[in-house]
Amino acid sequence: MFGLMQDRPLMISQIITYAARNHPRAAVISKTVEGDIHRTDYAGIERRARGLARVLQRLGIGDADRVATLGWNGFRHLELYYGVSGMGAICHTVNPRLGAPDITFIINDAADSVLFCETSFAGLVETIAPETKLRAVVMMCAPEHMPAITLPPGMDLLCYETLMAAADETYAWPEFDERKAALLCYTSGTTGKPKGVLYSHRSTILHAMAINAADVFGLRATDRILPVVPMFHVNAWGIPYAAPAAGAALIFPGRHLDGASLTKLMNDEKVTRSAGVPTIWLGLLNHLRASGERLHTVKRLVIGGSACPRMMIEAFEGEYNIQIDHAWGMTETSPLGTFNAPLPETDALSGEARLRHLEKQGRGIFGIDMKIANDAGESLPWDGVAQGNLMVRGAWVANAYWGQEPDSACDTAGWFATGDVATIDETGTMEITDRSKDVIKSGGEWISSITLENIAMSHPDVLEAAIVAASHSKWAERPLLIVVPRPDRELTREGVLAIYKDKVPTWWLPDDVVMVDELPHTATGKIHKLTLRNRYREHLTRAGR
Ligand code: AMP
Repeated sequence: MFGLMQDRPLMISQIITYAARNHPRAAVISKTVEGDIHRTDYAGIERRARGLARVLQRLGIGDADRVATLGWNGFRHLELYYGVSGMGAICHTVNPRLGAPDITFIINDAADSVLFCETSFAGLVETIAPETKLRAVVMMCAPEHMPAITLPPGMDLLCYETLMAAADETYAWPEFDERKAALLCYTSGTTGKPKGVLYSHRSTILHAMAINAADVFGLRATDRILPVVPMFHVNAWGIPYAAPAAGAALIFPGRHLDGASLTKLMNDEKVTRSAGVPTIWLGLLNHLRASGERLHTVKRLVIGGSACPRMMIEAFEGEYNIQIDHAWGMTETSPLGTFNAPLPETDALSGEARLRHLEKQGRGIFGIDMKIANDAGESLPWDGVAQGNLMVRGAWVANAYWGQEPDSACDTAGWFATGDVATIDETGTMEITDRSKDVIKSGGEWISSITLENIAMSHPDVLEAAIVAASHSKWAERPLLIVVPRPDRELTREGVLAIYKDKVPTWWLPDDVVMVDELPHTATGKIHKLTLRNRYREHLTRAGR
């Protein structure tokens, strides 16, 4: 017997129509490519998203067609999020920080038909366009800012605002099967070719509802959230859906992501919440310390995408009275999987024990099932010691990649292997100890690169640190520390290594320290371990070790 409840499909368009009706004047503020501040609200976004759906129809976009974007966080990108998915097409956010060959590969792999593009990427598009089968490129700007670029014959160059000016807004959002594809986002592809993750209307809405729970992002109508995490990387962690669903104001930084620009925007627009990767917060922290400025209204920052170093938690909480929320997720998990929110027993912790707990990535959020397993697939205990392959399943976890057979990315019980190595403690709190390919296997024993990096980052003279496995004649692999010293500081090998005293077993100590001016980063702001591994793999063996 079925329940007697309405079976209304979960549609992405419902979020923006809800926000337009219930929070029509909630602000959507964008710093544009041109450097101005653009102001609208959810009523305005919903109206223009309907106009955009008409534009897409005129461009011949139909059901499940892929519409690509190369965009910063801003109001037009938000209109595309709703307009494209809302009319039944698939919004394919492309990461502009990838190299031209990867971008071309991704656009062709997805068989995108039209590309919406920020004027900052005009040159890039001119380069890649001849290698693609795009029918049109729409510049996300007003007519007066149209760049003078040449596209191949048969590929139209169009202007977003010109198209919008001619569009009527009488469009009515359709309802269809909630399992239909809504968005496509490719993984960063640091090993091999990028792979597409295809989100559905259902998975997107369930994820938005889940992250709005009080012990996750818990956004409220009184919040003003600035997603620094880009809309081209896992849908800005779902914030463009969660914020309108909560009625929270959205503040978009555009391409202005340096510490000074973020501080100004956060203070001018009274931002209360923000979210991004550690690299961004490092830039912000350095700016605040150097300038003496404060963030007057920010209460909480979500940090994820890479491990949040302890010194970052200490600095933001201790010096700036801002709560740090450590979260874990991945493109394949929409992305939120875990969130470190207090429990009665952890709330009472203080000092070292509290910091140790906050460094962990958190508990599985409701809707995510999580386990750690050994290489034979057997579940390991939740004792905070056993390390295993982290597996997840849930309604917003991928079951296959774009172009592959359904369910081909998970086992028969639905578990998706994340490629992360983790422990889970008695409270259910998960800690990532490594990417499976980054873990250092010294004499058959595992050494956690993340633990060693976090300790190095706590050194006052270290700006950024990475640990990689270097080949070793006796131990197979040994940890090698690569550090960027803070400008104007004298950092010595012995000085850095001294920071590890009494913090890790002595056999975990890095075998050498390399000082560099900067570390390579991936297109999503993570340290590019593969580049470092290739560069330094023979560092120790060359020295006869
Ligand atoms: P992406 O799909 O590009 O978002 O990358 C996902 C990967 O980033 C995960 O599988 C983890 O290896 C890493 N990651 C995400 N969040 C964290 C975190 N809080 N701590 C450590 N690693 C993280």
